[in-house]
Amino acid sequence: VKRAKLTAPGSIVIEEAGQPVPAKGQALIEVKACGVCGTDVHAFEGRHPFISPPVVPGHEFAGIIRELGPGVEGLTPGSPVTVEPSLTCGQCRPCLSGRYNICDELKVLGCQADGAMAGMIAVRADKVASLPLDMPFIQASLIEPAAVSVHALSRLDLSALSRLLIIGAGPIGLLAVQAAAAWGVEEIAVSEPLAARRNLALELGANLALSGDDKTFGDEMVQRYGRVNAMDAVLDCAGLELTIGQAVEAVAKGGQVVVVGVPPKPARVNLSLIQDRELEMVGSLMYTRPDIIKARDMIYAGQINTGQLITAVKPLEELGEVLAGLAHNPAGSIKTVITMD
Ligand SMILES: [Zn+2]
Ligand SMILES: [Zn+2]
Repeated sequence: VKRAKLTAPGSIVIEEAGQPVPAKGQALIEVKACGVCGTDVHAFEGRHPFISPPVVPGHEFAGIIRELGPGVEGLTPGSPVTVEPSLTCGQCRPCLSGRYNICDELKVLGCQADGAMAGMIAVRADKVASLPLDMPFIQASLIEPAAVSVHALSRLDLSALSRLLIIGAGPIGLLAVQAAAAWGVEEIAVSEPLAARRNLALELGANLALSGDDKTFGDEMVQRYGRVNAMDAVLDCAGLELTIGQAVEAVAKGGQVVVVGVPPKPARVNLSLIQDRELEMVGSLMYTRPDIIKARDMIYAGQINTGQLITAVKPLEELGEVLAGLAHNPAGSIKTVITMD
């Protein structure tokens, strides 16, 4: 089978490899579609702290079960599926409490283990999630990033949420806009420097799009809401010192801030506002099974539109060019999906 291997920073090699054999407890998946993530781009550039080549990238994928290893029950060859790419220990305290997304030994397919930019991949059967028979694979490859957004929202007290600010209108932010709108959040503001993405956020359900410019941020908030700290909650999908600062400023007393974006370096936060306004700040990492199921169902039901997020669909052979293009111009595509045939 064909696979794309990141052999060194900047170098993707398409190679032929033997068909993987599913071990005990594994399922062999024929990959149909695999999304390209910012994580893959960072790994390609050689500036991801926890990924080092050689590795087959790809963790946002959907395909068909082709074979089952010994001891696997409840799955059927021929079924369309997506896969949770997390490899978790099942023994540590977070795992035992059900929060395996923060497993002490967490590894991710396509990052610390070979991923799905390949014709076939053997995965743990308990990480497989079924798909509706008529769900397109390209669409299903967005379940994984949508689950990231769903999980981030699940970190909030949704019953107390009528105004939400989402900072950053990349894939995670735009998926979060739609999930929040589907959940009935009345007022969704988005902050994003790129005009095209602001417009898309408005089309997908945001009520207000802010420029993200720190000089005008406060004024833009005051203009719409009469005060700067007007939001019940903020999802920071960027994770920069600038955006965390805006998040803490924009949230109302007693409100919540979720750090979703991966901070590229340590950021300072104005603790006085956290203390004085009794703000809550929590992190969000990946997702667990309920988030995957919710994301799948919302996409299938059309509550989350994926078509407008998919900028390009490319064959596996072009992965190297796709990653080089995104490294050069990260804003050039919202989501690029790779297909295997
Ligand atoms: Zn991803
Ligand atoms: Zn664990």
